[in-house]
Amino acid sequence: MRLVLHLLKREPQDVLLFAQVMKELVENVRYCRTCHNLSDEEECAICKNPKRDHATVCVVESIQDVMAIEATQQYNGVYHVLGGIISPMDGIGPQDLEIQSLVERANKGDIEEIILALSPTMEGDTTCFYIYRKLADMDLKVTTLARGVAQNDQLHYTDEITLGRSIVDRRPFSA
Ligand SMILES: [Zn+2]
Repeated sequence: MRLVLHLLKREPQDVLLFAQVMKELVENVRYCRTCHNLSDEEECAICKNPKRDHATVCVVESIQDVMAIEATQQYNGVYHVLGGIISPMDGIGPQDLEIQSLVERANKGDIEEIILALSPTMEGDTTCFYIYRKLADMDLKVTTLARGVAQNDQLHYTDEITLGRSIVDRRPFSA
């Protein structure tokens, strides 16, 4: 509402230009076919970057988490964005998330390590455990963030230094 009031004070052609830009933004928003990060092409810049370590995949809840981890400059692997976490209270089950596509990615055999970087909440832990079980028979390492991220913190609200350190100091996942 404040945005609308603000816009009404502007010149009409400015407002129409803004509306056009917003329309294009909404229509052109796409997600990477590999990791489900925001992308303006089929594959995002991170997945396409040959300098990244494609054998290490960091599993996150949201695109904001990708941005938060990128901001730490401590991580050189690639990502897998789930698009949420398992939350029975909100009616979100595993089938609503990009879990099957993660399992398929892992099944191809090119991944050496999967880092479960979900918020340390009950839902985050449930989701980690679910994914861990799905990956249990595969020949890869499953790790999780060091507990620098305070309990119940949303990952992307954690400060960069703490988040960066918790990725560097990651430890084997234990169910
Ligand atoms: Zn991608």
